[in-house]
Amino acid sequence: MVLPPWREVDLNTGRQSLLDLVTERQGLLISGLDLEASVLSVLASPSILVPPVDALNRVSKGSAGQAAELLELQYPVTMAVASLADAFDFCETHGWRAWAKGERYEAVPVTHPGALAHALDRITKTWGGTPLLQADVAGAEESICFAAHDGRLLGACAMRKTSMTPEGKTWSGRVTELSEADEKSLRTFVAETRWTGGGELELVREARTDERFLIDLNPRFPAWVHGATLAGFNLPARLVAAASGSTAPTESSSGNPEFVRVVLELPAVHSYPVQGFGMPSQLAAGLKGHPSGMPDLSRAVSGERPPARSSTVASHHPAVDELQTLAMADLMTPVRLALPRVVEQRLAQLNNLRLQIAASSGLPVTCAYSIKTDPSPDILSAMHASGLKAEAISMAEVQRALGAGFTPSDIVLNGPGKWWPRPVDSRLALRALFADSTSDLKRCLRVSADGDLQPNLVGLRVAAPKVTSRFGIRLHDRRQFASTASLLAASHLESFGAHMHVAASAIGFTEWLANARFAIDLAAMLADTVGIPVKAFDFGGGWPAAMTRFDTPALRETWTEAAGYARSKLPDLEEVLFEPGKALVQPAQLLLTRVLELRDSPDDDLAAVVDASVADLADLTRVARTVVAFDDQYQTWNVLPDGDDLIYGRICMEHDILRRGVAIPDTAEPGTLLAFLDAGAYESSMAYAFGS
Ligand SMILES: *Cc1c(COP(=O)(O)O)cnc(C)c1O
Repeated sequence: MVLPPWREVDLNTGRQSLLDLVTERQGLLISGLDLEASVLSVLASPSILVPPVDALNRVSKGSAGQAAELLELQYPVTMAVASLADAFDFCETHGWRAWAKGERYEAVPVTHPGALAHALDRITKTWGGTPLLQADVAGAEESICFAAHDGRLLGACAMRKTSMTPEGKTWSGRVTELSEADEKSLRTFVAETRWTGGGELELVREARTDERFLIDLNPRFPAWVHGATLAGFNLPARLVAAASGSTAPTESSSGNPEFVRVVLELPAVHSYPVQGFGMPSQLAAGLKGHPSGMPDLSRAVSGERPPARSSTVASHHPAVDELQTLAMADLMTPVRLALPRVVEQRLAQLNNLRLQIAASSGLPVTCAYSIKTDPSPDILSAMHASGLKAEAISMAEVQRALGAGFTPSDIVLNGPGKWWPRPVDSRLALRALFADSTSDLKRCLRVSADGDLQPNLVGLRVAAPKVTSRFGIRLHDRRQFASTASLLAASHLESFGAHMHVAASAIGFTEWLANARFAIDLAAMLADTVGIPVKAFDFGGGWPAAMTRFDTPALRETWTEAAGYARSKLPDLEEVLFEPGKALVQPAQLLLTRVLELRDSPDDDLAAVVDASVADLADLTRVARTVVAFDDQYQTWNVLPDGDDLIYGRICMEHDILRRGVAIPDTAEPGTLLAFLDAGAYESSMAYAFGS
């Protein structure tokens, strides 16, 4: 019998007629689709072998964290996406190793800024509901399959994937018995949820820790369940036997715990009638990747398209409060506005954090502001006044820092171009001088031995050992380690410094910490080899800018861990440094613009052309800028929710698109004021003049 597809039937009628079919025949129904299980669960019929509604709520992706706890498994960091800006923050914190997930089904990898909006869009459009973002766990995939009846565990087996399709589906696997501990916690889970039917726990065993994370909990048997039967675990038979009160057939095993899935071509029994000239709807939907018709069912369950999402974070952005107080009418646009109170707030948070790290590590902690991030005199003065040191990457920046009131002993000089534009012309007693290569180390040692510069500390930048980087000395390369060691051994140094800088905003906090530990180990080995101690470790910058504060636990834990590790491995360490740049000043500016024109694009999405351009907002990696619009009628600033509209820049370059995936309000018209938040740091320090 062929039933009509879910898109064509009313949910209630559909499930009732399925139930009638089953009971008429005194049959049992085992659903193979997650969503169908939840639709049928409402019937609470003993003939329909699916978990009760309560159990399903407890394993839905939004609350699977609790299920993981019950099962004594770890659960990856997960958030429900309220806005693109929040999602961007999340991905930055996790180094662009994340998954966008539907509430019910599907996971799309998000590995770079350009993929984010598209992935969320695809999830929302296919499945409806609120998309989730989940941090990726690096490791091998495993699975546990089970059958239960009315809270009683009937059987279970474990499976390790031995090969997968590109979507991560099991192609071949190895089936084994469950460990005693796993069986015990699964039994508790099944009893607690009064589970009926098949189930699958999808797990990843994290390579780094060997801990298992629950990625998905499916209320049905997995597609590979016959593989389990072949290996001697006929779980569907046990389920049917328990539900019908009969005895399960004796199970026989192929004698081999491994299975492989194959595709079989069969003669078609009947073909679909072709509607009009097109393809039958079901087939067409199938060709788009979901022959199950699950997307239709999903949208039916979650109702119409979700309301426009707005940002909870951004609506509390301090910049919005400041905007409210400004008199805008006469301002020429585009114009940047500085938000000094935001800098003050960040500096206070940073100082707090600095003191906490100092207390936990037992070492003095110094913060040096990265000048290139925003070299304007006001900002430099604010940094100096708050007690920060300065981090320069050229002699020109050193001069700027001196001009802003920093003393030479406040300045750390670093980077591959540090001698530009003029060779050393004074005997500055810099705080520290870090070499970026072995040849640069030669030069740094020479100028400090000759007294051309008189730095308090000479050191080297250790190339981040776990990523590819053009910067620093690769101490993890045997030859570079050896040549560095001989340079240091032949030098006049009595101690040296080590520096590592890799952007946590690009690789995530966990990877950052792994690199930091590795770099500290290498510095300790170098110190041992040459018999010269490391006196200071400098951890660089690259902290997420969109993360609106320095008081987040993730940042505190990462800095604490890094400083503690350095202290434990480097016995002569006297100081730890951090060099935030963009995390201090990115939110401290906004760019005010006016709409020049509103145009309909062919697919009905709206585009606003504004009087600013990528020359004003120059950080091309920032795809999810937060935009606020002025509402003339209510005289308020509102954060634009995500949507399908675009904001184009003023200049004639294809890539002059300032924001995609935003909803432009109906009230917008030529002349409407828009403000781009977080327009400081590289958005501004890399800005250029183009087309006047
Ligand atoms: C650029 C830079 C920083 C600051 O990086 P942000 O990403 O702006 O925080 C810190 N230290 C060094 C050596 C740098 O080159």
